[in-house]
Amino acid sequence: MLPDGSSSELPQRATTPSVRSATHDRVGEGAGLWQQGWYRYARALASPNFGSRPATAVTDLIVIHSISLPPGEFGNQQVQQLFTNQLDWDAHPYFQTLRGLQVSSHFFVARSGALWQFVSCDDRAWHAGESSYRGRSNCGIELEGLEGGLFEAAQYETLSSVCAALLLHYPITHLTGHQHIAPGRKQDPGSGFNWSGLQASLGLPAKCFPVIV
Ligand SMILES: [Zn+2]
Repeated sequence: MLPDGSSSELPQRATTPSVRSATHDRVGEGAGLWQQGWYRYARALASPNFGSRPATAVTDLIVIHSISLPPGEFGNQQVQQLFTNQLDWDAHPYFQTLRGLQVSSHFFVARSGALWQFVSCDDRAWHAGESSYRGRSNCGIELEGLEGGLFEAAQYETLSSVCAALLLHYPITHLTGHQHIAPGRKQDPGSGFNWSGLQASLGLPAKCFPVIV
């Protein structure tokens, strides 16, 4: 529900496309994949937690995160509830640490590969501390998972598709992890994330990615 009491849920979209279909669309520079910053193949679940980007903003960065609520528990709807201010703070002791938080991400990729979008990529999602990194505007993608843990093949497939679509529509020059833009403060997605696999699937040069040590 939005603050005015109206429903925040937009119509459900179709399933995730294959990487090939997203790439095939390159001729049209993503035409048809995006509508006012909303990705056609994501399930739209509009969050009230967003703001407009500065008029001069250039969205050239994708930031990859991991999250699960409570940590290590997958397959529930609690991340979606957090990002839409619907989470029951009393449902789990861990949620006390989040009580009152108003946050969002542009995208969330469940373990099954299912994709949700909460904020238009033309707008700024409320992800504390990294809305502007070195003057860059970013699109944030949360993967359902645990910091340092592994991610599912279906998640990489969806992530690759949505990144390919973002590359078609926005002047993306870099992909990075939350841990790389907030060193010492954040550790997601962590050592279990396969950066070289993502790089290979997108066919981008290594300079577009964080240095892997
Ligand atoms: Zn993060």
